[in-house]
Amino acid sequence: MSADLNVRQHNFSAGPGALPEEVLVEIREELPVFPGLGASIMEVSHRSKEFDAIYERAGARIKSLLGMGDDWTVMFLQGGASMQFHQVPLNFLRSDASADYLDTGTWSANAITEARRIGGVNVAASSREDDYTYIPTPDLWQLDPAAVYLHYTSNNTIFGTQYAHEPVAPSRPDGGRVPLVCDASSDFLSRRMDTDRYGLIYAGAQKNIGPAGVTAVMVRTSFMAGKKDGLPAMLDYGKHAGTMYNTPPVFAVYVVDKVLGWIERQGGLDAVAAVNDAKAAHLYGALDATDFYRPTVRADSRSKMNVCFRLPDEALEDRFVKEAAAEGLLALKGHRSVGGIRASIYNAVPLASVEALVGFMGRFEAANG
Ligand code: PMP
Repeated sequence: MSADLNVRQHNFSAGPGALPEEVLVEIREELPVFPGLGASIMEVSHRSKEFDAIYERAGARIKSLLGMGDDWTVMFLQGGASMQFHQVPLNFLRSDASADYLDTGTWSANAITEARRIGGVNVAASSREDDYTYIPTPDLWQLDPAAVYLHYTSNNTIFGTQYAHEPVAPSRPDGGRVPLVCDASSDFLSRRMDTDRYGLIYAGAQKNIGPAGVTAVMVRTSFMAGKKDGLPAMLDYGKHAGTMYNTPPVFAVYVVDKVLGWIERQGGLDAVAAVNDAKAAHLYGALDATDFYRPTVRADSRSKMNVCFRLPDEALEDRFVKEAAAEGLLALKGHRSVGGIRASIYNAVPLASVEALVGFMGRFEAANG
């Protein structure tokens, strides 16, 4: 018996988050028997030609969507983005060297903690003292031209801030620039990236590109040249780049490939970004039109993925979350560490969901304002 899709609700979950409905339907169709295979894709070897084709295609799709050249390798790893907090410095930061980190939220801070176990860390800027309510402007960054890399978190899921512009790293004496390393977990493939600036990009799949259990890691050949030797195999990018070192999370990679295909069918990143812009403009527009709802972050730092706001008091916030859920608007409670309301509006959340939320907000204010 198939589930009734009409009972699916508007999903504002921060992650794992909404997946495109047509992808879920496609998976349902193919789940017991993958076309031509006589078995489910979950039941065959990760070295089978069918799965290998999926793995290769998913990587090729990411590269093509982002305009990455042949000097980029895509890996699908386990351990979450949190593993990358450790794996990046383990591979690239020597104990006598230093990397720059921009501290814009809980996840950046975790990345910094892990890097400090391994080598030198220069926190080039931080908004911690102001409860991470903004992205420090580049004129405030104390960058080190000798840094091995500059790490930043493009979108801060918990606080609802996002870099409006990608960082420009300092020039090196040889004329190149310090490569960027980006934790793009919560806005990956929601807009274009200027990949020439980067050495490595990583993103847990469970917000914009798939289910939990897989992390996309993109690394550039020139950056890999600086990798350390003698690392534990599972943590050595050299063991994973260009080959499947061990069994990857096959089902998660299969779903990621489907979502990437969906992004392509939307028209690619420019088309997806235009919809994301429209959704964010609609929601922030509603917030700005009243004093009842109060956005929590500085206007120049607003995230187009996670929209955070407060109501006049916590009792009203509780009621807001409950009544919204009763109307089919799910998962609007802010992260447990900050409270308030958070509407996550990732790629797969349609404009209609944002319109439904804005409609509810108007009725809630009229009844409680
Ligand atoms: N970075 C960011 C920006 C995140 O939002 C999250 C998870 N919410 C993480 C890292 C940690 O990801 P994981 O749970 O996959 O380790």
